[in-house]
Amino acid sequence: MNKAFIPSEWEEKLYSFWEQKGYFKAQINKDKQPFSIILPPPNANAPLHLGHAMYVYEDIMIRYNKLLGKEVLWLPGADHAGFETQFVFEKNLQKQGKSRFDYDRETLFTMIWDFVMENRPIMESQLKRLGFALDWEKKKFTMDDDIVKIVYETFKKLHDEGLVYRDTKLVNFCTHDGTSFSDLEIIYREETAPLYYMKYGPFELATVRPETKFGDTAVAVHPDDRRYKKWIGKEIEVTGLIETFKIRVIADEAVDPKFGTGVVKVTPAHDFNDYEMAKRHNIPLKQVIGFDGRLNELTGPYKGLKVLAAREKVVEDLKQKGLITKIDESYTHSVPTCYKCGRVIEPLPKEQWFVKVRPLADQAIKLVEKGEINIYPRRFKRGLIDWLKKFHDWNISRQIVWGIRIPAWRCSKCNEWTVTSGEKPTNCLKCQSKELVQDEDTFDTWFSSSQWSYATLLTQDHHSQLSNLNSQFYTYFYPTAVMETGYEILPWWVARMIMMGYFATNKVPFKNVFLHGMVRDKQGRKMSKSKGNVVNPMEVLDKYGADALRAALIFQTTEGGDITFSEDKAVGMRNFANKIWNVGRFLYLNRNGKMKEENGKSKKKLSDLHKEFFQLKKKSIKNMDSYNFSLAFDTLFEFLWHRFADFYIEELKEEVRSGNIKVLEGLEEVYLQVLLMLHPFMPFVTEAVWKEFHGEEKSILDMRIEF
Ligand SMILES: [Zn+2]
Ligand SMILES: [Zn+2]
Repeated sequence: MNKAFIPSEWEEKLYSFWEQKGYFKAQINKDKQPFSIILPPPNANAPLHLGHAMYVYEDIMIRYNKLLGKEVLWLPGADHAGFETQFVFEKNLQKQGKSRFDYDRETLFTMIWDFVMENRPIMESQLKRLGFALDWEKKKFTMDDDIVKIVYETFKKLHDEGLVYRDTKLVNFCTHDGTSFSDLEIIYREETAPLYYMKYGPFELATVRPETKFGDTAVAVHPDDRRYKKWIGKEIEVTGLIETFKIRVIADEAVDPKFGTGVVKVTPAHDFNDYEMAKRHNIPLKQVIGFDGRLNELTGPYKGLKVLAAREKVVEDLKQKGLITKIDESYTHSVPTCYKCGRVIEPLPKEQWFVKVRPLADQAIKLVEKGEINIYPRRFKRGLIDWLKKFHDWNISRQIVWGIRIPAWRCSKCNEWTVTSGEKPTNCLKCQSKELVQDEDTFDTWFSSSQWSYATLLTQDHHSQLSNLNSQFYTYFYPTAVMETGYEILPWWVARMIMMGYFATNKVPFKNVFLHGMVRDKQGRKMSKSKGNVVNPMEVLDKYGADALRAALIFQTTEGGDITFSEDKAVGMRNFANKIWNVGRFLYLNRNGKMKEENGKSKKKLSDLHKEFFQLKKKSIKNMDSYNFSLAFDTLFEFLWHRFADFYIEELKEEVRSGNIKVLEGLEEVYLQVLLMLHPFMPFVTEAVWKEFHGEEKSILDMRIEF
């Protein structure tokens, strides 16, 4: 045994050994209990960040369950990450003085595909460096043909059952990125903006968006507001900037009599509240802002102006006409912004595909409440249910090229849509016309990734389909044992996977959910490029080894709580890896000692040690089984370092040195069992020592934790 454990001399070698010997390869084995986890697919296009290293929890579960004798599967994948990736790609184009508008759809798609495929191996090799026991032969990409096929089948099934519909609704639209978003992708920002009071026929009203006045189709007051009661239901005449027009006064509970003057203009095409109000009163939509973020032909001289420029000019002109009565400069309100580019989101009416969420979400709530899916740590259960309760219909259309194109064709004759599970229909389902045009849009990435649990397993057998759920591999490993991911994507992903998984397969997609926290810097701040505090996991790994990085993320953390990461922690865990090695080396070097009788003192010490270890093992297993992994690790750390090494070895080292085989064997037995318990956390050093003790071809993964 070498003097020290040098991670770089072992890691690659050991990982190849595990892979070549098929230790990570899952098979159908009817004699064994299956245990499966699907890795949340990292973005194929980006290197891993420290947050991804948190999937170490999954590796811990996989290796632990393997040591318990189960048939384990940890299935890797890569995400095309739709809009995220296109955004990065467009930034690169920009650097070359180009934009997405310079290419046709196919060319742009192919360019992004090549870009992603070139980068994908980086992310994959990094997962290997972390030591993750992934079954690489089964890896999947979210845009693999067979996965896409399953996504299409699910979409069609939803459509057939009336859970997907086409409708024109107000959507969150980023005019910079040229796509709509679901509610979850919007970030609300507090902003101070001028509130303009203007004359509006017989009224005075307040608005932050005077430029949308061309799209007003009503004026509203609260039904109980005495000041305006006599106007309700009447038409008023308003002097506008382009012309004088007539508009109806409606009464609606949603109007806040305390806001401004208690009168509001209703602009249903550009405001979510107004849109809802308009629906209640059957008021038409009048769109005056286009998808390019500019005012359109209905605005006369303002046509072509961008929203902010139009606002300025409209205010200027209103002032000229004496129509502005007051400006409140200190008004604060919350503004929806694009989560990616930060620009203000423009609510715009658009025809899109929507998932009718309530039936799916209500079913999901039942499953969680009944305990068919358990949530760990338990405190997240409430949050999950609250999210599910809040969900409403989900816009799944995106106006980007990098995604799975929606399998729906519109008839040029009768305008009706024909939805298929991928193949181009020969004729319109309604009027039989052959003039069909496919929807230009692609699916929201979360729509396809919500199907990941069953799609990845179904596609392991060739020719599997959603309509035929008998494939062997799927049947054996589905539902998966655990879904492990960061708590921050609970609503985006976990909630939707439950909805879609149950809808498509009539089974829960996973029996347990385990959520981990976010990795923060030493001061507890979020890591971000702008703060300059981002830690590259590969650098930590190069310096201290994979075991040290892994253990640093687990040691003394509260399950599900955020983790503060510092280099000191990695140093501490590197030292622990060395401790494991050195204890082993001490025992190893004293093997082959001469036979010598035990004495009373050592006998007593050994029996104490065995008792103490037995208790520890029981406790560790209990903690592992109840998802308290950090606690399990902390106790093992404490035991090996401070009890086994500092106390028992200290007490017994003379006996060992003088060749007392009984003592040596007693110590070795406990030590090797501790290695086994530590293996899921620190796979490299434990396997390295194991091989030193038992030979090059042996693996700790052949051992079983028995109790
Ligand atoms: Zn944007
Ligand atoms: Zn037709």
